[in-house]
Amino acid sequence: MEESFSIEKLQEKLKEKIKEVERLKHLLKDLKESSCEPDLLRPKTECCRLQNLGPVANLTKGDIERYSRQLILPEFGVKGQVKLQSTSVLIVGAGGLGCPAAVYLAAAGIGRLGVVDYDEVELSNLHRQILHTSDRVGLSKSLSIVRSCYRLNSNVEYVPYHLQLSSENALGIIKQYDIVLDATDNVATRYLLNDACVLAQKPLVSGSALRFEGQLTVYNNNGGPCYRCLFPQPPPPESVTNCSEGGVIGVVPGIIGSMQALEAIKIASGIGSSYNQRMLLFDALDGTFRSVKLRPRSPACIVCGNDPSITQLVDYVQFCGSAASDKDQELSVLDQQFRINVKEYQAMLSRREPHLLLDVRPEVEMDICQLPHSSLNIPFATFNRDISKATRQVLQGIKDLARENQDSQHQQENSKSIDGTFMQLSHEEGNHRKKPSENDKFIPIDTPAVVCVCRRGNDSQVVVKKLQEELKMQLSQGELDRNQPDIKFVDIKGGLHAWARHVDSQFPIY
Ligand SMILES: [Zn+2]
Repeated sequence: MEESFSIEKLQEKLKEKIKEVERLKHLLKDLKESSCEPDLLRPKTECCRLQNLGPVANLTKGDIERYSRQLILPEFGVKGQVKLQSTSVLIVGAGGLGCPAAVYLAAAGIGRLGVVDYDEVELSNLHRQILHTSDRVGLSKSLSIVRSCYRLNSNVEYVPYHLQLSSENALGIIKQYDIVLDATDNVATRYLLNDACVLAQKPLVSGSALRFEGQLTVYNNNGGPCYRCLFPQPPPPESVTNCSEGGVIGVVPGIIGSMQALEAIKIASGIGSSYNQRMLLFDALDGTFRSVKLRPRSPACIVCGNDPSITQLVDYVQFCGSAASDKDQELSVLDQQFRINVKEYQAMLSRREPHLLLDVRPEVEMDICQLPHSSLNIPFATFNRDISKATRQVLQGIKDLARENQDSQHQQENSKSIDGTFMQLSHEEGNHRKKPSENDKFIPIDTPAVVCVCRRGNDSQVVVKKLQEELKMQLSQGELDRNQPDIKFVDIKGGLHAWARHVDSQFPIY
């Protein structure tokens, strides 16, 4: 048994290695190819001076053939095409919105396309970030996008930036483009882009997509409002959800990103945008598009108003209280004594230490994967909605567990007294037995701890903190027995992601 298990493990390991070799081969091929690509496809790591994009006087034979289907549109025509080819667009964010936006702008023949992203391609990006490919995992996203677009249309000038847009470099880059697309997923960058576009007097085509919903609007264009006119204050950081936290159906950013390209093309070609002072709301579940009128530009706006107080870029991370990153931030809510790492938890499991495993992920995520120990699932949202109810459920879980442990101990003793051997008692059997000392205010703890886990180790910390505070309150108000011994709550550092990284490489990461 032991041997076949290790053969299987080895086979899996081998499969993994073969996959890794394949990936490296692809990467090598990609790099070799890129050495034949023009210098312009090399990502820039800082703002640099670009040559002026000269006006295009007339279309070549190749242009006419390539763009013929849009040239015959009366609203667009040769005039529109020439303008488009004289226009530069900067896309900030090479993800779910940036990919479709880039591909349509490249296909339509925009003059210059800059793409900013500090990140590398990950496997979990590919369901929506459709210009990246499986063999480009680990490659710079901005490079990956322009490489795909280059194959579609090499007449466009591409400028990939592998860098994080910041207060230091944003203006220098943005000033060199005619239109900016906000294809990012975080509040700090939204304010940064807004202020930079107001200061540089560029239209900002802003898109967002989350779960089944998308939004689109154009700021700072034709006398319309800027982002700050509508949202002078950033939302509280804990109220902001991004795609890696909340999830998204890939088609939704696909639709919104395509519309960002469309609005950019309309602005560039002279047709003009339909979304100055308007916002498009797309609901994929209902299949509906709505367009709502927004407030006009605010004369009191601190950046685009009549007497602006922001005349240069500020510290947006500080202003928003959250990082300018689309990735989840690691919280540090709990004291170290209330945290264990995945190795420590693995040791607890192998010692068969009795504990209540409290998994606070949403129900839908419980179906994806679970730790190898039965758990009580109370979603994080429940703790926010009704802490006393959630606490009751946890306390009930501890009581049940204590009862099961006592039962199995009894059973062990009984079976030992019969024939001296150990007999396992199932949990179900244990539940039927009535126990002495039933006192609602007293939680028997021969179990050392409640171990709280979530996907990444943020929610679990918050829950432990909430539980600690709630119990303290219940004790002080006499809702719990005064002799109640401390219940030790801990959380697993880094959550399931850490478990997959450090303990079980076969454990799925999502
Ligand atoms: Zn404004």
